Amino acid sequence: MINKRDLIELKKRGIKFAILSDFGWNLNLTPNEVLRFISDPEKFYADRCGMSLRDYRTWKEFARNPQCTGTTKKGERCNNGAHPFDPWNPQIVIKGIDDRCLLHKEKVSTK
Ligand SMILES: [Zn+2]
Repeated sequence: MINKRDLIELKKRGIKFAILSDFGWNLNLTPNEVLRFISDPEKFYADRCGMSLRDYRTWKEFARNPQCTGTTKKGERCNNGAHPFDPWNPQIVIKGIDDRCLLHKEKVSTK
């Protein structure tokens, strides 16, 4: 098992730690972050993005297939592109709004 002392020793020898993140950027990691990442990658990313684990998972799932989840008159999934959405920028995805095309976006109450 990897421990912090070994990671610090590797760092002293000039080895850098980095991961290709879920959102397509390289992230440089400190020895502490390496340990946190290894123990729970999703929690690590969620914390890094300032999101709850649940919001992060919703975003990740949607980012894989950013198409409208609305239902057509024929009862099929719409699959039009959902707008606007930046798949490389983690954000809170509100079901029924962010995951829908303009046609199927739910009306937001303006009380
Ligand atoms: Zn749609």
